[in-house]
Amino acid sequence: MQTPGGRIETDTVVCAAGAWSAEVGRWVGVDLPVEPMRRQILLTDAVPGLRPDTPFTIDLATSFYFHNEGRGLLLGMSWRDETPGFRLGRSDEWTADLAEVMERRVPSLTDLCVRSGWAGLYENTPDHNALIGEARGLDRFLYATGFSGHGFLQGPAVGEVMRDLVLGAQPFVDVAALSADRFAAADVRPEFNIV
Ligand SMILES: Cc1cc2nc3c(=O)[nH]c(=O)nc-3n(C[C@H](O)[C@H](O)[C@H](O)COP(=O)(O)OP(=O)(O)OC[C@H]3O[C@@H](n4cnc5c(N)ncnc54)[C@H](O)[C@@H]3O)c2cc1C
Repeated sequence: MQTPGGRIETDTVVCAAGAWSAEVGRWVGVDLPVEPMRRQILLTDAVPGLRPDTPFTIDLATSFYFHNEGRGLLLGMSWRDETPGFRLGRSDEWTADLAEVMERRVPSLTDLCVRSGWAGLYENTPDHNALIGEARGLDRFLYATGFSGHGFLQGPAVGEVMRDLVLGAQPFVDVAALSADRFAAADVRPEFNIV
């Protein structure tokens, strides 16, 4: 493979390029249906009286969530008006929608001062589940991507699975259902609770 840093020769490639994976797949003619989708979060100033054991709390009706970040709360929510793309800026419209949901669900938190925030990219697949496996018809192109916003929690187990797939060993769990080929079938079942 020719890269800006020179030519790389290898007998095995693992695509773990997150939101950028579709492009990497195209380089070798493999369809990795991964779409970048911006997600924004805010961090608040310290919350007086906040208990250290405050649990990670999600309102599944709106996807609004918060958790204790030590110095304050981390607030997040997916945005109904978000469209796929590589944008990483924060949006005032999203902040206004977040405030409106908080007013209804947690009015006691709406007076908090925002300290900072950022946006990152979910790496969504059509059914919001990961793509894990080896491409058919190519000599050793493997992929572990498309975690659709669940990649941190799945990472340790997926790392073990990918090690085994690279070595040609049997993974501790059958990942056949996560093959990128599954979207050719008509009965793809999307995840229901998406945050
Ligand atoms: C706001 C927000 C909150 C989240 N909260 C959670 C959570 O609570 N729990 C959870 O499990 N997950 C969460 N996630 C999702 C989690 O961050 C992702 O699922 C995870 O980071 C995906 O890991 P990855 O290694 O597949 O991709 P990434 O972490 O995106 O890594 C891909 C890497 O590939 C590199 N790359 C891309 N193209 C190329 C190329 N051509 N050549 C070389 N390198 C390349 C990129 O630079 C990047 O470093 C959250 C995401 C966001 C945005």
